[in-house]
Amino acid sequence: MSRNGNTIFSLILSGEIPSHKIYEDEFVYAFLDINPLSRGHTLVIPKEECSTMDLLSEKSASSLGMALPKICRAIIKITGAENYNIIQNNGEKAGQTVPHLHFHIIPRYPESTHSFVWNPSPIDHSDASELSKAIFYELG
Ligand code: AMP
Repeated sequence: MSRNGNTIFSLILSGEIPSHKIYEDEFVYAFLDINPLSRGHTLVIPKEECSTMDLLSEKSASSLGMALPKICRAIIKITGAENYNIIQNNGEKAGQTVPHLHFHIIPRYPESTHSFVWNPSPIDHSDASELSKAIFYELG
């Protein structure tokens, strides 16, 4: 597995810079975010050098999928937070600042004030019908 990436997370994976590790297996690493939105804010990353979700290998995806619920259970048990968000940004314009795929697990406490801006509008059913069919057939 390549460790030649040049993001700060590659340096964390190689041990060149320190991190507060909370989980590690063959394909996955998780550690506390250095600028947490709340206590226990965690980043879960694949060891594979990969920037966005669409590029992730099935092996890493499978390991991440298995690790995430386990890590969430441990975080809520240890922090006492009953609620949490999982956020995952892909691409700079989507808010990704470190181009190594990562999931944020962000505990929410009764006193938490952080928010995620979300301005939805009602679906256009005519476009949705076309769009859903196109994606459905793309997925085979
Ligand atoms: P994003 O904006 O989704 O790319 O998130 C990147 C996250 O990485 C931010 O929440 C940063 O606080 C976090 N981060 C950057 N450098 C480090 C580091 N050395 N250790 C832990 N977290 C970091």
